[in-house]
Amino acid sequence: MKAHDGMYIEGEWRPASGPDVIEVVNPADEQVIARVPAGTAEDVDLAVRAARAALPAWAATAPAERSARLAALRDVLAARKDEIAETVTAELGSPLKFSQNVHAAVPVAVAASYAELAATHPFEEKVGNSTVHQEPIGVVAAITPWNYPLHQIVAKVAPALAAGCTVVLKPAEDTPLVAQLFAEAIHEAGVPAGVFNLVTGLGPVAGQALVEHPDVDLVSFTGSTAVGRQIGASAGAALKKVALELGGKSANVILPSADLAKAVNVGVANVMSNSGQTCSAWTRMLVHTAQYDEAVELAAAAAAKYGERIGPVVSAKQQARVRGYIEKGLAEGARLVAGGPESPRERGYFVAPTVFADVTPDMTVAQEEIFGPVLSVLRYEDEEDALRIANGTVYGLAGAVWAGEEAEAVAFARRMDTGQVDINGGRFNPLAPFGGYKQSGVGRELGSHGLAEYLQTKSLQF
Ligand code: NAD
Repeated sequence: MKAHDGMYIEGEWRPASGPDVIEVVNPADEQVIARVPAGTAEDVDLAVRAARAALPAWAATAPAERSARLAALRDVLAARKDEIAETVTAELGSPLKFSQNVHAAVPVAVAASYAELAATHPFEEKVGNSTVHQEPIGVVAAITPWNYPLHQIVAKVAPALAAGCTVVLKPAEDTPLVAQLFAEAIHEAGVPAGVFNLVTGLGPVAGQALVEHPDVDLVSFTGSTAVGRQIGASAGAALKKVALELGGKSANVILPSADLAKAVNVGVANVMSNSGQTCSAWTRMLVHTAQYDEAVELAAAAAAKYGERIGPVVSAKQQARVRGYIEKGLAEGARLVAGGPESPRERGYFVAPTVFADVTPDMTVAQEEIFGPVLSVLRYEDEEDALRIANGTVYGLAGAVWAGEEAEAVAFARRMDTGQVDINGGRFNPLAPFGGYKQSGVGRELGSHGLAEYLQTKSLQF
């Protein structure tokens, strides 16, 4: 595949400072498809300097001009959607249809939402005898994972640009090609040189250098809770702002009055989608004891249907990790009703869609994020029991509630310790704030809440 052999800094592709490269592997056939440079602290420093130099002019542009650049970015992303989908399929392994409908389409919607918000957001407000100005925080370090590689880039860069910030992006090492394509889109959209900069590289090298750079004002990170904790500690020591989108272990609560078959089928589809590599996936299905056996049967049948349609997981490392969790579930006494630890194909990093029944809340597969196509079905005795189980992990990112009446589901959802809940299968909303309670993170992305992360306020008294 086409790849740049440099870094996008100050509006042009510049040679990397060192000779090291990262091999990009297609997880469906294990072939090396491209090589990108592995950035060093030197590349990071150049990129941060470019972002700092571009900040005063970009921060001073009228919101209408920033909106126009974001609208142009939206249009370029829409025009290049086929190329984007093919690139994500090649480096992440997701089926092409899913890449087209989700990986390529959602970023267009998010860019569009920030083109609109940049134009309509009240950056200046009267409060009594004061004028309150919302000003850009400054230079943003954006560090993103591989599972929704373009969405997570746009969910950080679009609000940062709308706010008047400048950005250095360090994308995931497994999916750098779509990040390079995004840099091309930024260029085509006429975003001024230095406002957006890209450094590809390894987390502990380029990522860490970016987090620790003294001229970065905000670190916006999406990834694992372990790395998020480290970044939070380092940013905290330097008193930098942070936004952290971390892991999840979300509950899909099916109340007895719900349409059981629909709730189970949508629930299984939610977990298997993107091969289970979704931080907000409903990986724990909670079913009333009277409906438990029927739900398990439905879930096993639904998972079996996914057999051939599911893509691989992103890497050999991730495949080994997911299989380790499946083996742990078996060892701790969960009952396998679909899938299992054996790879369903000889080539590629595939994991069979897997369902565990008889999972108790204390088991590892009910507590830890697996990040693969693995569902745990748990039983509850009554509503209080369901709530205790739903809230009984360190995470609180997302969830779902199903009931005969919406009001009943809403009443339950209000008691869940989690940042986002789908009621009877609610649809994705690119304007709804997304982010975690508890150890699932700090701050929110998307919509006006996402924009607020990149702003700081100044009040003038008269
Ligand atoms: P990861 O934390 O290892 O990597 C994420 C990013 O951080 C990558 O770009 C990586 O290079 C970088 N990184 C790694 N070590 C670093 C360091 N020491 N300093 C600076 N940067 C560093 O996560 P992953 O394995 O790539 O992604 C999977 C995890 O991400 C899962 O746990 C998942 O739940 C989480 N995730 C969360 C969300 C969310 O929105 N909450 C979204 C997607 C993924």
